[in-house]
Amino acid sequence: MQRAVVIGAGVVGASAAYRLAATGAAVTLVDQNTPGTGTTGNSFAWLNANHKPPAAYHALNVAGIDAHARLAADLGAAPWLHRTGNLTCAVGAAAAEALTAHVSALQAAGYAANLIDHQRAQDLEPHVQWPACPEVAFAHFPQEGWADGPLLVRTLVAAARALGAQVLPGDGVTAIRRGGDRVSGVALASGTAMAADVVVIAAGRWSDQVAALAGLRLPLAPTCGLLAVTTPLRHGPRSVVYAPGVHFRPEGDGRVVLQDGSTDAMVTPSTPRDPALPACRELWRRASAYLPDLAAADIVEARIGIRALPADGYPIVGFAPGCTGLYLAVTHSGMTLGPLLGELIAAEALGQARDPRLATFRPERCVGHR
Ligand SMILES: Cc1cc2nc3c(=O)[nH]c(=O)nc-3n(C[C@H](O)[C@H](O)[C@H](O)COP(=O)(O)OP(=O)(O)OC[C@H]3O[C@@H](n4cnc5c(N)ncnc54)[C@H](O)[C@@H]3O)c2cc1C
Repeated sequence: MQRAVVIGAGVVGASAAYRLAATGAAVTLVDQNTPGTGTTGNSFAWLNANHKPPAAYHALNVAGIDAHARLAADLGAAPWLHRTGNLTCAVGAAAAEALTAHVSALQAAGYAANLIDHQRAQDLEPHVQWPACPEVAFAHFPQEGWADGPLLVRTLVAAARALGAQVLPGDGVTAIRRGGDRVSGVALASGTAMAADVVVIAAGRWSDQVAALAGLRLPLAPTCGLLAVTTPLRHGPRSVVYAPGVHFRPEGDGRVVLQDGSTDAMVTPSTPRDPALPACRELWRRASAYLPDLAAADIVEARIGIRALPADGYPIVGFAPGCTGLYLAVTHSGMTLGPLLGELIAAEALGQARDPRLATFRPERCVGHR
């Protein structure tokens, strides 16, 4: 039986641990913290392949959405998965034209994307107040949705445990051991040492530091994102909504999560997680134009997530160059891709053929030795 250690219990590592355990490996999943509290716990978590060029990355994300459905079928229930669709609204002649062209390109690629009229948008989202001006366009992406990241990780960790995996929260990997050019195990902060045939680095935005323990240079370019969470609304959105200046989605129990790229730029990793932040007020103000019920609600939580973003923006997935048995898995869009990567990591790490869908995302393109 192959011994696998997975470093990091976010959506990527937990998916890998579950699939490795299901394939019959002796799995240990290690996290320096509580599983699901890294970037996975601070994500907008939109499941999509909507703006994901080039074609290979788009196709990987399409497969990622499909893998959520496969995971749901395998586990028999999917409390984390909200297949709500996405509704995007563009205002102004140029933006409306761009959205129309975008939908045409996605349709040509076989992606579920439709232009809809104002009435249909209102039917889909009866509690959203859409702009009524003439130069407005709406697109509906019915196969998209969102995932509850922490719940997905808890579900995967429980499923991996049920298959015999050992899960060690609150204990960080401090050394990666090698015997010649092969990985031989890891050492933990607690002093525990563990032998392994395969070690998977799925440590998200910390993956560069963990890879350095094996003498590797893994280039990341992390960025920050701010999420503002509201008190429960009587009538909130049903789906993921992209509107000019803000996007939002349900968060469960009537709460709504708000985000936008421009307010992301107003925070840093050290910004206090304070719901009174000016950026949170700004998100609330913008979203209030679309959600009248926000007037009676407030922001109760500010979350700041740090994207596990490889320097060139694309996933780094595969065996590390020059270290047999050491597998790297770090990506943005991990909420969409996590369950798929879990399948691919398990198959490749345990010796099956390399999956051609990962051909352009291999570590060799950017990972070097220190
Ligand atoms: C604001 C924001 C919005 C986003 N929106 C989307 C979106 O809409 N759709 C989408 O698909 N993706 C989105 N993402 C990206 C997505 O959330 C991430 O790609 C994904 O959560 C990364 O998961 P992960 O498992 O790689 O990392 P993480 O969830 O960060 O997990 C890594 C784990 O490794 C552990 N770790 C680190 N170092 C060690 C060590 N030495 N030893 C042991 N454990 C260690 C950490 O404690 C952590 O739990 C967003 C991200 C952000 C920040």
